[in-house]
Amino acid sequence: MTIAAVIGLGTMGAGIAAVLARGGLTVRACDTAPAAVERARGELPAIAGLLDRLGTPARGDATAVAFAGSLEEAVAGADLVLENVPEKLELKQQVFRQIDAAVGTDCIIASDTSGIPITKLQAVVSRPERVVGMHWSNPPHLIPMIEVVAGRQTGTATRDWMVALIRGLGLLPVVVKKDVPGFVENRVLYAIMREALDLVEEGVIEPEDLDTCVSWGIGYKLAIVGPMKLLDMAGLDIYQSVASYLNPELSRRADVSGAIAERIGRGRLGLKSGAGLFDYAPGELQSLRAERANRFVAVRKALTED
Ligand code: NAD
Repeated sequence: MTIAAVIGLGTMGAGIAAVLARGGLTVRACDTAPAAVERARGELPAIAGLLDRLGTPARGDATAVAFAGSLEEAVAGADLVLENVPEKLELKQQVFRQIDAAVGTDCIIASDTSGIPITKLQAVVSRPERVVGMHWSNPPHLIPMIEVVAGRQTGTATRDWMVALIRGLGLLPVVVKKDVPGFVENRVLYAIMREALDLVEEGVIEPEDLDTCVSWGIGYKLAIVGPMKLLDMAGLDIYQSVASYLNPELSRRADVSGAIAERIGRGRLGLKSGAGLFDYAPGELQSLRAERANRFVAVRKALTED
């Protein structure tokens, strides 16, 4: 029986722990904030219900997550430790050192970092060949794709073990062959967000309409035909003609849109503060999460039907 430890129970932790537990792993989890542990504990039944509705292979109970009082207790005897703490290099390196000191020689140490090079994390442990990126997508219990990222020192056996684990969970591993910042998913997503914010800031389109355009135009299409196959569908000659005049027009700004800093300055951080680019009514957060989860389940089922 594979023992997995999830370190950090914020936005991502509970969903990941539930997926691993449903996949038949023995799962322990911990967080330095007691409130995060209680929130994760409370989220597990609803997440388990969504996994039931998705019908993913059930080799274990998604709610069977043991909450440990310390990192050392969580990782003792683990085969896999998944670091899931905030996206700060120094913090992650400190947690990696702590994990390294507490696990056995065969333990695989993975990070859910959104884009910090794995090479920088494996640099601080005694067995860098056992370190690998395991980048989930939010919400982790609903999005089936997981990036597997090899740092410069990651062993092929470690990478292959991770790919096999993800396949065994009924999910879709994607191997990122070079440890570039942001890996692949976030590089593509951040290119889209940069252009989207630029178009809104330039007054080309209203935010609501931008979302309709992308979700019902590109997004809906990309869920069925990925960008590489879309090039074939459009015709490479057409792409060449359009890209030759359009590429020079696209945003290449290296800083972050001023619209973001302006909102942050006013305490508008997004859903977590009740307002961001849009306003959210009190209590709307809960219903929005549930409604989005229902749609994710329905679309994923539709896309995987024969
Ligand atoms: P978060 O800030 O919501 O949660 C992080 C949790 O880690 C907090 O509960 C915090 O108390 C805990 N923590 C901090 N220091 C700790 C320590 N030393 N030991 C144990 N727990 C500790 O962050 P998140 O959004 O869940 O992101 C976690 C990681 O996953 C980040 O690297 C992030 O980039 C990545 N990620 C996030 C998303 C997303 O959409 N939020 C998507 C994919 C990957």
